[in-house]
Amino acid sequence: MSYEYNLPAGTVWNLIIDGKSVPAVAGRTFESRNPATGELLALVAEGDAQDIELAVQAARRAFDGPWSRFTPFQRQECLLKLADLVDENFEAFSLLDTLDMGAPISFTRGRRQRAIGMLRFYAGLCTSTNGETLPNSLPGNVFSYTLKDPIGVVGAITPWNAPLTSTIWKIGPVLASGCTMVLKPAEDAPLTALRLGELVLEAGFPPGVVNVVPGLGAEAGAALASHRGVDKIAFTGSDETGRKIIEASKGNIKRLMLELGGKSPDVIFADADLDAAVAGAGMGVFGNTGQICSAGTRILVERPIYDEFVARLSDFAAALRVGKGIDPATQIGPVVSAKQLNRIMNYIDIGLREGASIKTGGARLDDDGLREGHFIRPTVLAGARNDMRIAQEEIFGPVASVIPFDTAEEAAALANATQFGLGGGVWTQNLAKAHLMAKAIRSGTVWVNCYGLLDPVIPFGGYKASGYGRESGLHHVEEYLQTKSVVIQNG
Ligand code: NAD
Repeated sequence: MSYEYNLPAGTVWNLIIDGKSVPAVAGRTFESRNPATGELLALVAEGDAQDIELAVQAARRAFDGPWSRFTPFQRQECLLKLADLVDENFEAFSLLDTLDMGAPISFTRGRRQRAIGMLRFYAGLCTSTNGETLPNSLPGNVFSYTLKDPIGVVGAITPWNAPLTSTIWKIGPVLASGCTMVLKPAEDAPLTALRLGELVLEAGFPPGVVNVVPGLGAEAGAALASHRGVDKIAFTGSDETGRKIIEASKGNIKRLMLELGGKSPDVIFADADLDAAVAGAGMGVFGNTGQICSAGTRILVERPIYDEFVARLSDFAAALRVGKGIDPATQIGPVVSAKQLNRIMNYIDIGLREGASIKTGGARLDDDGLREGHFIRPTVLAGARNDMRIAQEEIFGPVASVIPFDTAEEAAALANATQFGLGGGVWTQNLAKAHLMAKAIRSGTVWVNCYGLLDPVIPFGGYKASGYGRESGLHHVEEYLQTKSVVIQNG
C-alpha cells in the first residue's frame, strides 16, 4: 500500500460564507502543516472580525429565511444525505485528519461508525423533539402548552484533536435543532471542517446555514465569542479559553455550552484483571498521543500491585509503535505542533523536579525520517503524588502519572482532588466496589473495566471546571432549543 496522499500544493482553502467559497476580507492566509513531517499541506484563508461579521449576517439571514421553513422531516433528509456523503468520502476524511493533525490512519479509519452514527442519530432527533401540553390550575378555560424554539445563530469553536468527529458533534445537533451556525475550527487542523462545510451544501442545506471561518483564536474566535448577533457559543477546548469565552459572552448574555479539559483519574484495584487494565489504562492515556480531553492521565494504583503495574504499563508503553500516522502499522502518531511538543517536554521536566521518575519514554524521537516531526515516546512517570503539577494540570500529551493508594476511600478522595471532572475509570472484578466508585467519582463519565468508549446515545460532558452542557444523548438537541410557554384564554 502506498502511503502517499498529496493535497494540491500551495492551494488556498477559502472560507465558506453564505454558501460561497471566499477569501478572507483582509486577504491573509495561514499555513497548515503536517505534524509528522513539517511539510506544508495547504494555505488557509485567515478569517478575522470582518469575516465573522459577514458569516454571522449570513447565518441570521438563513435562520430568518428559507431554513426557518424547513420541516423536521426535511432537516432529517438533509442530515441523512450528509451522513451518506461523509460515508462515501470517509477514506478521504481519514487521510485529511491524519495529515492535518497526525492521528494514526488506523485510528481515523476506525472512527467511521462514530462519525456516520452521530449524523444518523441527530437525523433521528429532528422528528422527535416536542413541547408539552400543561394542565394548569388557572381560573376559567385556560389552555397552556410549550413550544421548543431553535435558539438562533450558534457560534461553534472547536479544538484540533479529533477534527472530523468534534466538528460533527457540533454540526449534527445544531442542524437537527433548526439553528444556523458559524463554525471556527482550530487553526492547527482546519481542513476537515472546510471539507465538511462543502458537503453540507451538497447535502441540500441552504446557503448560510453552516458558515466555516478558520482563523486565530484571539481574532476570529474572540470576535465570534463576543458578537452580539450570536445567540449561543458551543465551545470545546481548554479551560483557559473557556474562561475567556465566559467573559466575552456577557455583552448579550449569550447561552454557553463548554466542553473543557480534564485530568481524569483511572483507578486500578488489586483485584482487577491486570492484562485488561494495563492495556485499557495504557490506551486510555496514550491513545491519540494523549490528546484526548477525557484521557485517564492520573493512574491511581492500589499499593500491593503498584510496582508490578508500573512495570507492566512501562513495558506496554515501550512496545507501542510510534511513527507517521500515514503508516497503517503506527499506533501512536506525532503531537500536533512544535508548541505542544515543547509544552509536554516542559511538563516532564517539571515532574522530574517535583520528584517523579521516568520509567519509560520522556524523550523525543529523532530517528531518521521522524526528526522533522513532533514525535515523543509514550511516557510513564512513577512515584507521582496527586498534589504535583503533573497530576493537577492538563498536559495533553502521552504522559501517565502513576500514583499509589491504600483504600477505596482514599482512591475516591484522590480521584476528586482536582479542579476537573470530565472522565474517570475504575478497574475491579468486584461489582459492589465498581458501583461505589462510579457513584463516588465526581465527573461526567465513569468507565468501568474499559476506558473512553463513546456512543451517540451516551451523554458526554463535564463536572466542575471541565465545563457544562452535555453532548450526545437524547437531550443534546435541547441544548440548541429554548422553551416558549403559550397561555390561551378560551373565552
Ligand atoms: P484551545 O482552548 O487553545 O483552542 C480551542 C479553540 O478555541 C480553537 O479553535 C482556538 O482557536 C479557539 N480560541 C483560542 N483562543 C480563543 C479566544 N480567546 N476566544 C475564542 N476562541 C478562542 O484548545 P486546544 O489547544 O485547541 O485543544 C486542547 C484543549 O481542548 C484541551 O484542554 C482539551 O482538554 C480540550 N478538549 C476538550 C474536549 C471536551 O469534549 N471536553 C474535547 C477535545 C479537547
